[in-house]
Amino acid sequence: MTVPLAETATAAPFVEKQPLAPYEAPERPSLVGMPRAALAEALGDIGVPERQRRMRVQQIWHWLYVRGAQEFDAMTTLSKELRAALANAFTLARHEIAAEQVSVDGTRKWLICLPGEIGGAPHEVECVYIPEADRGTLCISSQVGCTLNCTFCHTGTQRLVRNLTAGEIAGQVVLARDRLGDWTPAGGREGELEKRLVSNIVVMGMGEPLYNFEAVRDGLNVIADGEGLSISKRRITLSTSGVVPNIARAGTEIGCMLAVSLHAVTDELREQLVPLNRKYPLRELLDACRNYPGVSNARRITFEYVMLKGVNDSLTDAKALVRLLKGIPAKINLIPFNPWPGTTYECSDWEQIEKFSEIVFAAGYASPVRTPRGRDILAACGQLKSATEKLSARERLALRAMALTD
Ligand code: SAH
Ligand code: SF4
Repeated sequence: MTVPLAETATAAPFVEKQPLAPYEAPERPSLVGMPRAALAEALGDIGVPERQRRMRVQQIWHWLYVRGAQEFDAMTTLSKELRAALANAFTLARHEIAAEQVSVDGTRKWLICLPGEIGGAPHEVECVYIPEADRGTLCISSQVGCTLNCTFCHTGTQRLVRNLTAGEIAGQVVLARDRLGDWTPAGGREGELEKRLVSNIVVMGMGEPLYNFEAVRDGLNVIADGEGLSISKRRITLSTSGVVPNIARAGTEIGCMLAVSLHAVTDELREQLVPLNRKYPLRELLDACRNYPGVSNARRITFEYVMLKGVNDSLTDAKALVRLLKGIPAKINLIPFNPWPGTTYECSDWEQIEKFSEIVFAAGYASPVRTPRGRDILAACGQLKSATEKLSARERLALRAMALTD
């Protein structure tokens, strides 16, 4: 274990932002996305006797996550009295959408409005849906802004940070299924995953999920629940910038697939790009990956590597990358840098990305660069907000959300 460097030791950017903006629960909370235990407690609050709670949770769960019920009155297996009591104390409110965009290739983006502090401005996060021939991937956010401040990332420059609740995390899947009409109709067969539009989840939108561990864990467990949304944990990938102590926890307490934002092959460069590296250097990060619970050749860790011109894109870097990952069951995703107003970084030239990727390919890693999708609507997570603020980065091919699916 290395001792973290004192934050004042260098002029380098700080590692973490403090403090977090608090979450203020609304007077009538929405049941959408709420974990089972919280739902049982909520039922207790309106007087449902303890011996009935399990069964009621089960019934409500089915209505919420298999049928996509939007009103308590649709829950016909519950008594009229219970439906009225529920409606009195709770809602089935979905996230409010500030903007929705649909690309010609079917990619969809939603800018979601979340309540801020009472009297304060609402917060905004993004959610992106990327359909492909054999799957549909939803990229969800875990924080408003981000606790960390990677120098190439637009989200990292935002001052304000608020953790999403578990309900707000799982609620993004409910919202996507609503908008896509992706619920099981009455009388339809449940759990036909191959027919589901949303079949895969990546936690790669705004925020660092392992700095909001409990809510992300509980939210993903709602998403994976086999009697509800039913998205298998093998189809859920969480991306982290390398919060080492929580990597093993993600394996044991969530059991999802892991993606790691590597971006550099030396500590010196990684400290500049991902300041968290000062706290958790490469050696510790790669050890945590090697020991990730459940890792195997069938369940590889994805290493993300953003291509920054003249910074980390030399062929020497490519060879060092391959050497560094030796022995770890890995996939490599090269992400073309998606520029934003004010950044000093540039995306590597396409020829350089190709040369870099040839070295990675020759080392046995298949198709390391993804084809950009949804270009016409800037479907990279982190870009919708900029687009609506008219801060366009439209011309670039970089779409980081694309690096994220298998
Ligand atoms: N905080 C987590 C997950 C969200 S970021 C993480 O860092 O892994 C998802 C991915 O997008 C990360 O690999 C991140 O490094 C990358 N990314 C951030 N800004 C980018 C940009 N402008 N262009 C390309 N990729 C970017
Ligand atoms: Fe946060 Fe990830 Fe952006 Fe880094 S890359 S600032 S960890 S969202």
